[in-house]
Amino acid sequence: MLYYSLNNPSTRVTFKEATIRGQAPDKGLYFPERIPTLPKEFIDKIDRYSREEIAWRVISPYVGDTLTEDELRRIVAETINFDFPLVSIPSHTPATNPLPGSPNSPLTPDAYTLELFHGPTLAFKDVGARFMSRCLGHFVRDIHRPVTVLVATSGDTGGAVASGFYGVEGVNVVILYPSGKVSSVQELQLTTLGNNISALEVDGTFDDCQRMVKEAFSDPLLNDRLFLTSANSINVARWLPQQFYYFFAWQQWPDKQHPPVISVPSGNFGNICAGLMAWSSGLPVSHFIAACNANDIVPVYLRTGEYQAKAARPTLSNAMDVGNPSNFVRILEIFDKQLPSLKSILSSVSISDEETVATILDLYTHHQYLPDPHGAVGYLALQRYLAAHPGAKGIFLETAHPVKFYDVVEPLIGSTIPLPENVKTLLNHQKHSTRIAPDYAQLKEYLLS
Ligand SMILES: *Cc1c(COP(=O)(O)O)cnc(C)c1O
Repeated sequence: MLYYSLNNPSTRVTFKEATIRGQAPDKGLYFPERIPTLPKEFIDKIDRYSREEIAWRVISPYVGDTLTEDELRRIVAETINFDFPLVSIPSHTPATNPLPGSPNSPLTPDAYTLELFHGPTLAFKDVGARFMSRCLGHFVRDIHRPVTVLVATSGDTGGAVASGFYGVEGVNVVILYPSGKVSSVQELQLTTLGNNISALEVDGTFDDCQRMVKEAFSDPLLNDRLFLTSANSINVARWLPQQFYYFFAWQQWPDKQHPPVISVPSGNFGNICAGLMAWSSGLPVSHFIAACNANDIVPVYLRTGEYQAKAARPTLSNAMDVGNPSNFVRILEIFDKQLPSLKSILSSVSISDEETVATILDLYTHHQYLPDPHGAVGYLALQRYLAAHPGAKGIFLETAHPVKFYDVVEPLIGSTIPLPENVKTLLNHQKHSTRIAPDYAQLKEYLLS
């Protein structure tokens, strides 16, 4: 499989080159030259396959011969060594509807959630980061010099990248984060690993961090001395393995005669774009919903045909505060830029912070399920669709553990969220970071020392 740049379809690179580069030199996103079709037998009998086998079958056409079968199977197994449970959401509290088997009873739920937060940093980005780090670690072996992954984070990405790359030989990771602007759990995830992971605490904003990283990538002297690369979410090795979630959902889906509607909390649109790739490969899905917060660029586009990038607006579901979703061009490519065919499978809605808060409370009090703010956006978008399409059943993706957003969720429910084991151990670790000013010269000096 070769990849072309969306800015210039005549360029062709391998999976290895696309992974090392991240972005094409013409600044375009890489896209596979064809979308593989999976055998019907595999799709129909998916519950007979192990998760490792499913993931390997899905990703191997994209990797081609850049990794051996053994190597790819090992990377896949390490990437997904935690759970991805499909959990049913009771339609009503048992108290209000106690009759088993009656419509809307807890035994016939119409909404499910696929929990994607059981990885080491409690958010779905773990899968992409773990897969990419292992591929890159393998590919840089024949570069014979250490590679430095430079990344700016507003919170979630840094933790997933730090954990994914921890201990990967030949790769050093430098993470820039805005001092005092990430949650305490997120900060510990960035600053306590040590070894090949270093954290730079910048006295500034996320935008300062991103500007400094961009400057480093375009600095000829620095790039001459160091092999710099990014672990950006547009990297094909982070984007494509996100297809696994949709196959794992199908594997656990109880009613194979009626494929699910899937609602995906969306910001940069990488996750939902992977879902649409899976569907293009033959995965049964009846409809996709891109659930957005107040950042409504795609909902407006699908309604009016006008794509207007805007400055990002801050919301409670801050991992989706994106004003120009970078993966949307890939979605347009899947559909050959044909809006009617895109709209037949994808719809998109915008959910306000007020609605998000009300939904967290509703799920918690009436359905015994505590979502994080991103999952709540996904759930409400799904509920609206199901209400308008009687008989449909669906899944929303729960993209983060609610404890990651305890500052939003705990005051609402009036109690504390029990910490998962891996977060508890984190609290005993010592933070190690280097404080720098929001000044590129200081970053450069640090990288060259
Ligand atoms: C990154 C993130 C999202 C958005 O995913 P995209 O692929 O950028 O659309 C949603 N929820 C959480 C918790 C995230 O960290």
